[in-house]
Amino acid sequence: MDNLWIAALKPVDRKRLEPHLHETQFRQGDLIYDVGQAVDEVWFPVAGVVSLMTVLPEDRLVETAAIGREGLVGVTCGPLNARAASRAIAQIAGSAFCCPAEVFSDALAESESMRVALAKFTEGLFAQVQQTAACNAQHRLDERLARWLLTLHDRADAARFDLTQADIAGMLGVRRATVSEVGSALENRKLIKRGRGWVEVLDRPALESAACGCYHSIRGVMKDLRLPLPKPPKD
Ligand SMILES: [Zn+2]
Repeated sequence: MDNLWIAALKPVDRKRLEPHLHETQFRQGDLIYDVGQAVDEVWFPVAGVVSLMTVLPEDRLVETAAIGREGLVGVTCGPLNARAASRAIAQIAGSAFCCPAEVFSDALAESESMRVALAKFTEGLFAQVQQTAACNAQHRLDERLARWLLTLHDRADAARFDLTQADIAGMLGVRRATVSEVGSALENRKLIKRGRGWVEVLDRPALESAACGCYHSIRGVMKDLRLPLPKPPKD
């Protein structure tokens, strides 16, 4: 298991980070950082998924991006060590390599190729955030749910992953009852199976057909940027 962004760096750049990395585990629901907090560590997930959430003044939340082993968390809200503009929560349990933000900042200052690799990642993330904003505003909930499940499935270690109705409602910014109805529709079409606190993807190609075009648009931008693409588990 590896972090794909680090694996794609030049060996000389990997060596700048590797001596400073320590592994940490995270559980579903763990808060990695909150709005307004100084971000003092950069996380490179090797398993699991971290969601970036925008927090509205009335304390409602909506997810604007999901990051797994293809990326990094902690430098996505502005210049290094800036205060976070979004909330980062572990959506699927996993683990990450972490390094102090200062180490990462120093490595960037020393290496043009690291700066390029980070710029590509942030461009890809910006595309994801933009597409998600448009998707949330314009696309049907069943299409959005299918898109979001694909995003998680790509970063999960198995077809079945922990996810409650409340998680889904929170991510999509809708009520639980609405999620239940739309989830049942996908389940009746045998695209997914749901249990108490988990979801299983049964028919990946059909789920892709059920999703809006946003899923492929985001992956298209990542491909154009030659960013590592997360892949769904084989089972
Ligand atoms: Zn969409």
